[in-house]
Amino acid sequence: MSIRDFIPLARPDINEEDIARVAEVLRTGMLVQGKNVLSLEKAFAELHQSPNAVAASNGTATLHLALKALGVGKGDEVIVPAFSYTATANVVELVEATPVFVDIDINTFNIDVNKIERAITSKTKAIIPVHEFGLACDIEEVCNIAENHRLHVIEDAACALGARQHNRLIGSFGIFGSFSLHPRKSITAGEGGMLLTPDKELNNKIRQLRNHGLDPDNSEMDFLIAGFNYRMTDFQAALALSQFQRLEKILQQKNKLAEIYFNEIKNNHIKMPVIPEGHNHTWQTFHLLLDDSLDQKEVIKKLKDLNIGSNYGAQCIPAQTYYKRKYGYDSQEQFPEAYRAYRKGLAIPIYERLSEEDIVSISKIINEL
Ligand SMILES: *Cc1c(COP(=O)(O)O)cnc(C)c1O
Repeated sequence: MSIRDFIPLARPDINEEDIARVAEVLRTGMLVQGKNVLSLEKAFAELHQSPNAVAASNGTATLHLALKALGVGKGDEVIVPAFSYTATANVVELVEATPVFVDIDINTFNIDVNKIERAITSKTKAIIPVHEFGLACDIEEVCNIAENHRLHVIEDAACALGARQHNRLIGSFGIFGSFSLHPRKSITAGEGGMLLTPDKELNNKIRQLRNHGLDPDNSEMDFLIAGFNYRMTDFQAALALSQFQRLEKILQQKNKLAEIYFNEIKNNHIKMPVIPEGHNHTWQTFHLLLDDSLDQKEVIKKLKDLNIGSNYGAQCIPAQTYYKRKYGYDSQEQFPEAYRAYRKGLAIPIYERLSEEDIVSISKIINEL
């Protein structure tokens, strides 16, 4: 076995241009929510052909802002997939509403649209579909169901910037589309989030809530509501903006690497990712599914010993202690596919700077598991 450096699961691609752009902002001394934030908002709005985009401090803050602006709170229910990053459900708890979990489709790891309707009650106010691992969920069907039941759709597009269904970019379907700019996502601000909405009033409400409740349209300081401080700094925006300009290139490169995995990985005990017709994948995570003969923890350890980073892909949220204690879920029984994805899922390295040789060598090791 050749000795090579440890290959982490993910690594942001920061180049000299990115660093120069950040340094430039630092030299001006204008550090918070300035012209780079505005430019980043404009870039997101234009890409998604959305009239409004609001930058915020992270992709959990944006989800929180969306629920707050819609007035979702005590006594309300919000439908979320049982398999996602825990933040998707935590924000529902943070506004004192109740998350109602729906199991996933094990092929796509996205919400099973056939199971949404039976979770809807008279208390349901919104659905938060997630485009998990960078693959567009069936957002068209989610929107159909929501329309029939008069529910809001908040797209958790945190890890899926650039993903599409039938050529339309995700994040532009719901009343809100929420993105994250964490280093694990397509492009990064360090920490950051972006919220799209076609609605002018909601856009205004979000801008108030983001900045202590300050009236964004009044040059005299007036506070209309008790808001948060969920602002983005201008140097973070400069970093994300610099990266945004090569988004297509980043996505293309990851797609190329994913194709090598598809060609090279051949292991009967491992299921490859599935991309449904009309959807595209942006490969925030390359997520395999192990069969019962392979133990996830042992595989992760084995790969680590061979200098390859890997991990489970996302949480079965109702199986986490907080949710299990509060609602008494038996996840294995109630959300079997989410539980299986949590216990048998394996995220393997994919990022722009990974070489094709690295992918081939990781594949060989996976084939021998
Ligand atoms: C990363 C992520 C979040 C949280 O975003 P942060 O910017 O880290 O707060 C929320 N939902 C999903 C699906 C994510 O992948």
